[in-house]
Amino acid sequence: MRRILHQPYLEALDRFLKYTSKDPYSNCIEWTGATRKGYGQFGFRGTSKAVHRFSYEVFIGPIPAGYEINHKCRNKLCIAPDHLEALTPQQHQEVDRDLLRAGGKKGRRSQILKKALNASKLHQD
Ligand SMILES: [Zn+2]
Repeated sequence: MRRILHQPYLEALDRFLKYTSKDPYSNCIEWTGATRKGYGQFGFRGTSKAVHRFSYEVFIGPIPAGYEINHKCRNKLCIAPDHLEALTPQQHQEVDRDLLRAGGKKGRRSQILKKALNASKLHQD
């Protein structure tokens, strides 16, 4: 996994790695900085960038146009390069659908719970 990094990425990498922490059990490298919708966010070149995409670009390579980054470990905060893979939106949907069937972290039960939680929030005044 050796590649020449572009300068802006190199400069940001030290700052980036300060917000990470390795989980010795899962080998996930979790983002400890700011998040939005459950995904880590990182200020890079004047914009807010998803940290798993940043990690993929730094350690693996450019993300092909239109591709999404899937967390093979199902941990949305994970930025471990070997836990990430680039998929087309269609492949990504299929992976999620399979997980839904298998009742993984993104399974039906948690979806239903989330809906109930959101509904109860809406009724609060
Ligand atoms: Zn992971």
